[in-house]
Amino acid sequence: MTANAPIRLAVVGIGKIARDQHFPAIAGNPDFRLAATVSRQATALGDVPHFATLDALLDGGMPLDAVALCTPPQVRYALAARAIGAGLHVFLEKPPGATLSEVTALRTQAGAAGISLFASWHSRYAAGVAPARAWLANRHIDRVSIIWREDVRVWHPGQAWIWEPGGLGVFDPGINALSILTHMLPRPVFLQDATLSLPENRAAPIAADLRLSDTAGTPIHMDLDWRQTGPQSWDIFVETDAGTLHLARGGAVLTLPTGTQQSADIEYPELYARFADLIQQGRSDVDTDPLCLVADAFLRGKRITVEPFHD
Ligand code: NAP
Repeated sequence: MTANAPIRLAVVGIGKIARDQHFPAIAGNPDFRLAATVSRQATALGDVPHFATLDALLDGGMPLDAVALCTPPQVRYALAARAIGAGLHVFLEKPPGATLSEVTALRTQAGAAGISLFASWHSRYAAGVAPARAWLANRHIDRVSIIWREDVRVWHPGQAWIWEPGGLGVFDPGINALSILTHMLPRPVFLQDATLSLPENRAAPIAADLRLSDTAGTPIHMDLDWRQTGPQSWDIFVETDAGTLHLARGGAVLTLPTGTQQSADIEYPELYARFADLIQQGRSDVDTDPLCLVADAFLRGKRITVEPFHD
């Protein structure tokens, strides 16, 4: 990569998020050029060179600067380690891995290789999150309530990996709320207890109830459910000494006592702008706090068995 030349990027794993968000964001950012795609099943995008595996791409010797890994988390470590070994900058979709220890290992490898590793949390770039964070900085917070209820059949049809160990089940969307929470609150957050509801035929939870706290003792409740039909909820309510803050639609709409603000969706354009900055500055950004809370829910949570789930 020479100064001012676009970053030559390969996208690995062409599923829903790569098509819906990554390709448009890359096309809209002159700092990047889509140099290759990697997918076992999908076909080439126009005349962009296409490879069935990352090994085939790297063994072919094509000049490349970075990869964006848009596969399920269970296969992300091996791909990231291979890319770092080849000297490439790495953008990790959320969650950054299937375990905390593998993400820590990647951070160490990235540091030793001198490449930029970016553990992305797209919900932190939802339009309402930065102003919410600023508004909360000097408030006394009384309590927080998160309601994240969606219909898994609508949002994750046929995604077998999401129900497998490491796929996180209902925490796949729930971790987005935790990424906002840990970014928005002024103090560290920790898990107190949890109840995980697992369908008797699945390895991952379909619902979860979490009790958390911040270090000032603020109670935080999280209601996560994938069995919601009808209106969907991606809401966070924060009660403060100056009134209630409400983040709706996954962070896109912010209501403060003074009124409601809503702007265009900027999550993935902002993620790619951040990735370009990190590469330019020779830095990494690997925050594992949201994954840590999910891991703690699996570590500490009580499991109950609920009725089987069929797609
Ligand atoms: P998806 O639609 O299932 O796509 C994943 C892609 O990864 C598949 O098309 C598949 O392509 C490839 N892949 C490689 N190894 C795989 C394996 N062992 N099992 C299954 N697929 C494999 O999933 P997605 O919704 O795009 O989600 C991918 C990641 O992005 C997840 O970590 C998810 O949390 C995150 N994400 C998703 C959304 C969303 O709205 N869907 C939003 C934000 C973030 P080939 O089979 O062709 O190789």
